[in-house]
Amino acid sequence: MSLDIQDLSYAYGRKQALKSVSFTARPGRFTALLGPNGAGKSTLFALLTRLFTSSQGTIRIAGHDLARTPRAALAQMGIVFQQQTLDLDLSVRQNLRYFAALHGLSGKAAETRIDAALDRLTMRERAQEKARTLNGGHRRRTEIARALLHGPSVLLLDEPTVGLDAAARASITQHLHDLAEQDSLTVLWATHLTDEVKPGDDLVLLHQGEIRAKGRSMDLHGTSTLSDWFLMQTEVPA
Ligand code: ADP
Repeated sequence: MSLDIQDLSYAYGRKQALKSVSFTARPGRFTALLGPNGAGKSTLFALLTRLFTSSQGTIRIAGHDLARTPRAALAQMGIVFQQQTLDLDLSVRQNLRYFAALHGLSGKAAETRIDAALDRLTMRERAQEKARTLNGGHRRRTEIARALLHGPSVLLLDEPTVGLDAAARASITQHLHDLAEQDSLTVLWATHLTDEVKPGDDLVLLHQGEIRAKGRSMDLHGTSTLSDWFLMQTEVPA
């Protein structure tokens, strides 16, 4: 149930934003897609969610080719966008119910799944609270619970800690590491922050539209800190 990307390229007019990108994110692993601003992370996410399509390269989600069998592929994918997408006037549970209905789930089946998803993010006791009253960390948790509602095997998160304070950031990052490991989820986490990556994580370094390195984080940065290694790899000559 992996996410497999092969030879993927994308251009905005003459601006080549992704150049023959290939990597695999595996079940049970937290894979960090690390890259500075402008690296191509958002472009890659737009291709993964079919906001954009590309004629070059393939994307396979849990074995389903996204271009040929998009429904089957997207059914296996959950996504948390960078921008907040909750309805602030609805409660946590109502936000999840609405999303469940979009997936054809209602009644008891939906409530069972909503409870399970809220439990996974330790948000059950806040189910009746309006999204507007939640802090940033709890709003993010609600969005992650929602993304897991339809039982995807691949979870994509596009810079999910933007705007969170340090404590909420650390807590959500840890939670996603645990989810990957405990539920054999394939987690792809886009970020430009090296402190969100643990030594044992799989790391894909994206810079100027190209994969510059991939492998286990600690194997890549060796005796340097990840932060120093990252700066070295992404230095743009003046
Ligand atoms: P990231 O998410 O890693 O910051 P993006 O995917 O947003 O990177 O951008 C990758 C590259 O594509 C950058 O050089 C950016 O300037 C360029 N780019 C992004 N969106 C557009 C667009 N709509 N038109 C032209 N160039 C774009």
